Amino acid sequence: MAKVKTYKNYIDGEWVSSHTGRTFDNINPADTRQNLGRFQRSDKKDVDRAVAAAKKAFKTWRLVPAPKRAEILYRIADRIWADKEKFSQQMTMEMGKIIAETRGDVQEVIDMTYYMAGEGRRQFGQTTPSELQNKFMMSVRQPLGVCGIITPWNFPMAIASWKIMPALVLGNTCVLKPATYTPLSAVNFTKMCEECGLPPGVLNLVTGSGSEVGEPLITNKDISVISFTGSTEVGQRVSSACAPDFRHCHLEMGGKNAIMILDDAKLDLAVDGCLWGAFGTTGQRCTATSRIIIDKKLYRKFLNRFLPRVKALRVGNGLDEKVDMGPSVSESQLKTVMEYVKIGQEEDGAKLLIGGKRLTRGKYRNGFYHEPTVFGNVTPGMRIAKEEIFGPVVSVIPVNGMKKAIEVCNNVAYGLSASVYTQDVNRAFTAMRDVYTGIFYVNAPTIGAEVHLPFGGTKVTGNGHREAGIAALDVFSEWKSVYIDFSGTIQRAQIDNQ
Ligand code: NAD
Repeated sequence: MAKVKTYKNYIDGEWVSSHTGRTFDNINPADTRQNLGRFQRSDKKDVDRAVAAAKKAFKTWRLVPAPKRAEILYRIADRIWADKEKFSQQMTMEMGKIIAETRGDVQEVIDMTYYMAGEGRRQFGQTTPSELQNKFMMSVRQPLGVCGIITPWNFPMAIASWKIMPALVLGNTCVLKPATYTPLSAVNFTKMCEECGLPPGVLNLVTGSGSEVGEPLITNKDISVISFTGSTEVGQRVSSACAPDFRHCHLEMGGKNAIMILDDAKLDLAVDGCLWGAFGTTGQRCTATSRIIIDKKLYRKFLNRFLPRVKALRVGNGLDEKVDMGPSVSESQLKTVMEYVKIGQEEDGAKLLIGGKRLTRGKYRNGFYHEPTVFGNVTPGMRIAKEEIFGPVVSVIPVNGMKKAIEVCNNVAYGLSASVYTQDVNRAFTAMRDVYTGIFYVNAPTIGAEVHLPFGGTKVTGNGHREAGIAALDVFSEWKSVYIDFSGTIQRAQIDNQ
């Protein structure tokens, strides 16, 4: 048996073991015989040390000129680029998505890091004329302090970079707590930051569970802002932990995203979009297409083209370039998928059209594989049409006309992403205006965000913040409005200029 490597926490510029002396294993979901490493099972004491280090480092990091901070970010992006393939392979091994997609994940880190490095020379504020003579007015961004960064497993490096890069370029310091399924990608990311000259304490990494590491992080009073991506249930807990002392929190949570196919849509294009949207990342994207709302006139024709394509999807180990869809991330995620398939089969009227079973034979024996699954004749009130599944299961909902499609699209608790397939520009704009989500696509599936536009959702998907683009700067900074009176006399706003 190959020796299993032990990885450490990164606190105050040092790789250190947890004081608990405990570790947890990182198991490959495509082949559970493979242990990718032992990681520190940390607790409150480790978190407190990391927060103290970040608090100390903030005193000096906030005073480093932003363009100088950005120089380190540029180096990090270059460095990650050089090892992109290695990081992608390791990410596929620890969380299962196919290699083309993990390459995309690492690419997103590179893109975001370059983009935020550019902010080293921007971070624009406002200057505006005063109502009084000889007085100057401007607004500047100021960093918040220590940021607690809590990430999920589905975009293990990309989501960490979406949060950490804007935080750092603005002069904040960070403590990163990654999901327990993907600690290796977090270690890789942190190592690159260390190698490229990020000073000790500016970025700290503490691995461990939500209850033992996440809880102490969200309740630590020295943390100024928590940036969390994960489930809506845990997001509620983060929100209530920050509320009593008004510490900021930024929440990106679940989705129940829909593609609407109107009666004039280019059907083959829509079929391609539905395949990619529903089964990319094994349906484990927050923006995954979980509902296909289709005009009744096209329902049969669509299924006739869609189902053979679903059947042809190659499921397997994501390291194989020919594979289209990898395993679920874990046994518990797979069980959730299987439970929802059962719920769907029991829903009155819904029809299982393809898939529906766990794959267990031959090459699937040691992994968490499930068939790509499609339910037809789904109605909007069914649980499979309303609840997030986070797996390779999609519900097809036939409706009459665009108005009804938009109504059904909006009628869920979540509001992350939606899309419309139509050739009519008037209908595309109407749908864009009337669908209440944070992200909207025309003639493309619900996935595929780029780093320089705001990313996030409405309703129970988020709490009004956005990450990516310049919107992310608002999460990690506060505005300071500055008035400079050079008149040499007392001047009273709203009074002396009457
Ligand atoms: P999760 O909520 O179980 O865990 C997310 C993170 O929170 C993990 O690091 C976990 O250890 C930590 N955590 C758990 N309990 C905690 C607690 N009490 N205090 C602090 N931290 C705690 O979510 P997951 O299973 O890792 O990810 C899947 C979910 O994430 C899905 O709902 C998906 O939609 C969502 N997601 C949303 C976005 C988005 O941008 N909107 C992106 C990716 C994933």
